[in-house]
Amino acid sequence: MVSIRDVSKSYWRGNRPVPVLEDISFDIAAGEFLALMGPSGSGKSTLLNLIAGIDTVDQGTILVGGLDITSLAEAELAHWRATHVGFIFQFYNLIPVLTAYENIELPLHLTSLSRGERQEHVEMALRVVNLADRSDHYPRQLSGGEQQRVAIARAVITDPAILVADEPTGDLDRHSAEEILNLMERLNEESGKTIIMVTHDPRAAERARIIRHLEKGTLTNDALPSSL
Ligand code: ATP
Ligand code: MG
Repeated sequence: MVSIRDVSKSYWRGNRPVPVLEDISFDIAAGEFLALMGPSGSGKSTLLNLIAGIDTVDQGTILVGGLDITSLAEAELAHWRATHVGFIFQFYNLIPVLTAYENIELPLHLTSLSRGERQEHVEMALRVVNLADRSDHYPRQLSGGEQQRVAIARAVITDPAILVADEPTGDLDRHSAEEILNLMERLNEESGKTIIMVTHDPRAAERARIIRHLEKGTLTNDALPSSL
């Protein structure tokens, strides 16, 4: 599903490039649930953003479902991202002036669905994340866990094959974190979503099937099953 080949990335600090990822190669199978761990600054978010087409490589290629996303022009990449990847962030990134319903509906405005079809999709997504009774609430009226469930509904509303999650439980108490992880597990097992999750939390990583470690821009382990 995702094939990462010889990927390198630097960021400019002042007038010199600082390497962040160095010659990374690995594969992620379709339907995988992968956790990416490693110290702060090791390049986890950078790698996730490259796979999700938010950022672009300096060198190397990333194939997703056979498509080389590193060869796409900016507008093509933006379209690919909007239709193939769902995003979940640590701080939810909901639009504060839109209700839960409107936040979830947002990605559907890029599709050709009718108003009635959009409504069906959003109502179904609200049921999946168990928030049918909160649809007209604004983010500030929802707990962190509820906001993250809205964000997950929004991430899956266009039925993307891949979900990327950057510390999805990083801002949540243990109970809410468990709920979010249960939801992600269900999306992986029942809907077959490929999930790539960056996390610092060993409890969260345990829910993944495979854990990979990054250190100073390099992968340090083979694809270990999380149960080991
Ligand atoms: P954390 O666990 O703290 O989130 P991380 O492993 O996700 O860390 P990255 O965010 O990928 O780390 O950052 C890796 C390195 O790249 C850091 O030194 C960071 O300062 C630098 N970096 C990340 N994004 C940029 C950017 N847009 N411009 C310049 N430097 C950046
Ligand atoms: Mg990060």
